Amino acid sequence: MHELSLVQSIFASLREELSKEELAKLTRVDMKIGVLANVEPTLLQNAFLAYQESNPEYKQVALSTERVQIKIHCSSCKKKSAVTNYIFRCQHCGQPSNDIKEGEELLIHQIHF
Ligand SMILES: [Zn+2]
Repeated sequence: MHELSLVQSIFASLREELSKEELAKLTRVDMKIGVLANVEPTLLQNAFLAYQESNPEYKQVALSTERVQIKIHCSSCKKKSAVTNYIFRCQHCGQPSNDIKEGEELLIHQIHF
């Protein structure tokens, strides 16, 4: 399952970045998930809970996810615009663009103690 291996790598990087004492005090992990990141937040939450069940030392940690919408950059008018319904077209001048600036991210945005 794709989401479970993702949760495993989240905790692997937390263990790498934090000391044992910090890890024990960790209360929340905020993640940014782009619409194009191919990760379903609900499935990620479920995988997170499953991981905590087999790793009770992380029981106190909550996962919060923020969905990041798609934004493209327009090479004609140099503006950024949001993409709705997967129509990759500048909202300012109508020019098609697939220069994606946001919406592909999958990252730990913030951690709380
Ligand atoms: Zn434009």
